[in-house]
Amino acid sequence: KDTISDPEQIVKKYVDKMDSPPGEDCIICMEKLTVASGYGDMTQSMTIQPEMVGKLKKCGHSFHTLCLLAMYNNGNKDGSLQCPTCKAIYGEKTGTQPDGKMEVYFMPHSLPGHPDCGVIHIVYTILPGIQGPEHPNPGKPYTARGFPRHCFLPNNSKGKKVLDLLHLAWKRRLIFTVGVSSTTGEVDTVVWNEIHHKTEMCSNTSGHGFPDPNYLDNVLAELVAQGVTEDCLGH
Ligand code: NAD
Ligand code: ZN
Ligand code: ZN
Repeated sequence: KDTISDPEQIVKKYVDKMDSPPGEDCIICMEKLTVASGYGDMTQSMTIQPEMVGKLKKCGHSFHTLCLLAMYNNGNKDGSLQCPTCKAIYGEKTGTQPDGKMEVYFMPHSLPGHPDCGVIHIVYTILPGIQGPEHPNPGKPYTARGFPRHCFLPNNSKGKKVLDLLHLAWKRRLIFTVGVSSTTGEVDTVVWNEIHHKTEMCSNTSGHGFPDPNYLDNVLAELVAQGVTEDCLGH
């Protein structure tokens, strides 16, 4: 967790102030960067004026600084910011996955398409509970359907790398979220969060099974999009 918890300080540390804004629109409020932020009346700030424009330091995209503050305050306020244009991540992105456990087993079987190695078996367990302030309806219950959920990876070098990154994503609360299930339409329930898992080992009736020659590369890209990269593994 970031030791600076003031949202204005967090937003300011990721941007350089622009003295002459470019003639583009701010894609957060859709107003021109040369005029005041469209969030000027909704977002109060002592230190950020509605005319201020900031350029994100790594990717160079620019927005009203107040719009970035409004966006930050609308999220889970974990000290990180994601560029709405290119999805570049500033700081360490965390999610809203409820409490639970992630267990890993190794099996001697093999997966369709991976005849020459064993299987990594991941079991996620999440129980129903009460939503926290980071969830869509704080104080209301959430359901947790179809748990424990069983997932499979080939036990080869790329599969082991994906497993390490999934462990990190789990610690950062990025594997599941609480929201609306696109499969069932149920609200206030635990759902997968943009990191695809293979939930069938031998069959492929749901489309979430093997063989799938692109799966490991696809999930690595999805992990990168959440800020979970090999650089984070520290070796
Ligand atoms: P969702 O339907 O909101 O979808 C979120 C993401 O998960 C999507 O990207 C989707 O492609 C992916 N996904 C959908 N079905 C999947 C599956 N079977 N295996 C792996 N990934 C899948 O997410 P959700 O509500 O968490 O539902 C995902 C799956 O969970 C459902 O298809 C269903 O098989 C299972 N589920 C089971 C129960 C139950 O009572 N047994 C209840 C709800 C969901
Ligand atoms: Zn704006
Ligand atoms: Zn960007």
